[in-house]
Amino acid sequence: MAVQFPGDKTYTGENMAELQLHGSPAVLSETLSALFALGVRQANAGEFTRRAFLNGKLGLMEAEAVADLIAAQTLEAAGNAAGQLSGTIGSHMAEIRQKLVALSAHFLAVVDYPDEEIEPFQMQQMIQTLSETAEEVQQLYDSYETGRILREGLPCAILGRPNVGKSTLLNALAGFDRAIVTEIPGTTRDMIEEVVRIGALCLRLQDTAGLRDTNDPVEKIGVERARLAAKNAGLVLAVIDGSQPLTDADLDVLKQAKESPRAVVVVNKCDKPTEVQIPEDFPYIVSISAKQGIGLDKLKTALLECAGLSGAAFDGGMITNARQAEALLRAADACKQAAEAAYIGFSPDAVLMDVETAIAALGELTGQNVREDIISDIFRRFCVGK
Ligand code: GDP
Ligand code: MG
Repeated sequence: MAVQFPGDKTYTGENMAELQLHGSPAVLSETLSALFALGVRQANAGEFTRRAFLNGKLGLMEAEAVADLIAAQTLEAAGNAAGQLSGTIGSHMAEIRQKLVALSAHFLAVVDYPDEEIEPFQMQQMIQTLSETAEEVQQLYDSYETGRILREGLPCAILGRPNVGKSTLLNALAGFDRAIVTEIPGTTRDMIEEVVRIGALCLRLQDTAGLRDTNDPVEKIGVERARLAAKNAGLVLAVIDGSQPLTDADLDVLKQAKESPRAVVVVNKCDKPTEVQIPEDFPYIVSISAKQGIGLDKLKTALLECAGLSGAAFDGGMITNARQAEALLRAADACKQAAEAAYIGFSPDAVLMDVETAIAALGELTGQNVREDIISDIFRRFCVGK
């Protein structure tokens, strides 16, 4: 069946047609051959969205949201991408840019006609506009830390001395017996990974060998890998056996947790009498029994809070990619500098330079003025057919 999509209301804004075929590989490849013989070629990665962008159907932020929507691993990440696809942030940033363009016209007039002066009152208003813009752009930039976690998830190392219940915890969070659990210390030697979704948070859990001094050459490598995993993790789950007094190895684990950007201390085996008091000040300490499934909900809440994803709105207000973050930071800094320069009483052309930098950065963000190679780079990362 051939379906025709005529006119400018299509995704790309161009005439389109869709062929719907029976799924047999033979029919598909024969049809493709026939099309190629007619001079048709296959679309490049991201070509449809690229055309939509070039034809003005989508801004660049919206086009990037398409990629986010395709890659979304949680409903919340999809919600944020869909919100951005609808253009809320993109058009707002375009408005801010327009405001700066108007402001720059004022300074330009003074640069071109030095006899003109900006009235003190007007100057005051411009400084205020610049500061407010800086603040607003900075706020959007600040959402990147959480937005990145929303999009990419967090690598999370489960750290602890042997036998505290790390593998049992991995299995409890994964919901099936992923790792081998025995009462023999040193059971886990290689690193075991499992992706676990906790609400908006996608955790790449890494179960590691227990931290201890060992002569076993294989376990030794496992312990080194565990330390490395902890270093590279965005979040450390430090597991302590609550039914036994703290050991030096436990203190070592807590020290590693302190050095991580995010840490949740898990006091496990709460089904037995408690023997430990965590000596250090950690914002998240949760008592659980991994084996009996007690306290897991509390732990999940702590993980969400620790990742910054608790209570957040997932309607498109978070930016999720480094390109956008970098452009926003540049724009915010330039606005701040322009406001300061104007406040100190620098010459209009000095202020103008900073305002122009901000305008350029925002234009890159929304795609209103962006280099060809940057556009190519963005769409190259799309999949074919999107
Ligand atoms: P790992 O070496 O840290 O990975 O520890 P494992 O997950 O292999 O568990 C070591 C032992 O502790 C096993 O016998 C588990 O059944 C036991 N264990 C794990 N979690 C709990 C718990 O919450 N309560 C009790 N009583 N035992 C547990
Ligand atoms: Mg283990």
